[in-house]
Amino acid sequence: MEADRLSRTLLAWYDAEARRLPWRSPPGVYADPYHVWLSEVMLQQTTVAAVIPYFRKFLDRWPTVLDLAAADSEEVMAAWAGLGYYARARNLLKCAQHVASVLGGRFPDTEDGLRSLPGIGDYTAAAIASIAFGRATVVVDGNVERVMARLFAEQAPLPGVKPRLKQRAAQLAPQERCGDYSQALMDLGATLCTPRNPACGLCPWVRDCQGRLQGIAADLPARTPKAEKPTRHGLAFWIARWDGSILLRKRPPHGLLGGMLEVPSTPWRDSSEGGAWTLDEASKHAPLSCSWHPVRGTVRHTFTHFHLEMTVVTGIARGGEPPASRWVSPESLGEQALPTIMRKIVRHAML
Ligand code: SF4
Repeated sequence: MEADRLSRTLLAWYDAEARRLPWRSPPGVYADPYHVWLSEVMLQQTTVAAVIPYFRKFLDRWPTVLDLAAADSEEVMAAWAGLGYYARARNLLKCAQHVASVLGGRFPDTEDGLRSLPGIGDYTAAAIASIAFGRATVVVDGNVERVMARLFAEQAPLPGVKPRLKQRAAQLAPQERCGDYSQALMDLGATLCTPRNPACGLCPWVRDCQGRLQGIAADLPARTPKAEKPTRHGLAFWIARWDGSILLRKRPPHGLLGGMLEVPSTPWRDSSEGGAWTLDEASKHAPLSCSWHPVRGTVRHTFTHFHLEMTVVTGIARGGEPPASRWVSPESLGEQALPTIMRKIVRHAML
């Protein structure tokens, strides 16, 4: 295939069809590195539709990296609540503070320089370098992998075939407008070359696509079957005080949901560690001793590596404030930095 012609066709399609996203600049214009960085961190494991309101909220509140660097960490965590993968929010703040205090508020303009910042890995470094600074580097996400697998009819399965797909994308990259090329590939994967039913009739590469010509496009990329996710179990303690306040606790700073508020709960364990908790076992982990009443049903949530099933018990406490905990009025629960699983527990307990 002629790389030149393919990249030119793709860029012409992008000039006409680029998605309008709040962190994007129009085709041909470099984007603001703060916007690219913020959006790329938010987009990790999260859909574009879910990210847009969060991106707008962050930009309204903290229009520059210097504003974000000066923000209070609790406020940032509260603004992030609901987006998931909370380590990203902690790293976001660390990175902003580093850029502000060490680099005078300017992001480095090379992949190496960007990779040295807290929370920035290979992918995000490549995205910022190419989209904000025009560096000749190709950004490869799941969308791009799918397009390359189909264009070249690569039948070897993911994840092993990733390096070859990256190489394919790099071979087609133009000398100029590398950032637009990366974004065009992502847009093609997100809008036309979708996982099911690719809209080949509208695709700028319809005549060249080997996957389409061989009639196998919709089955690509192939994948090595994934091991099934285990299910973990936990029990949450919904504790009310005489004035109706509810006890919330701050989770330890590291690990899953580190530093976020929670409805106090037992550790989460899978079947090899005992599976579902009996009330007797669980009550040893309760922050206060109460007489417990089970809430009917369970709360389910899926994380990247496991499913979680939580049962909830309620109790009335006479008082006391265990370490890292606070009493919160039911009306202000909605304003707390509660991750999605904890919001589900709140809804379940308040039914
Ligand atoms: S022709 Fe179809 S399968 Fe091939 S890249 Fe375009 S949308 Fe994807």
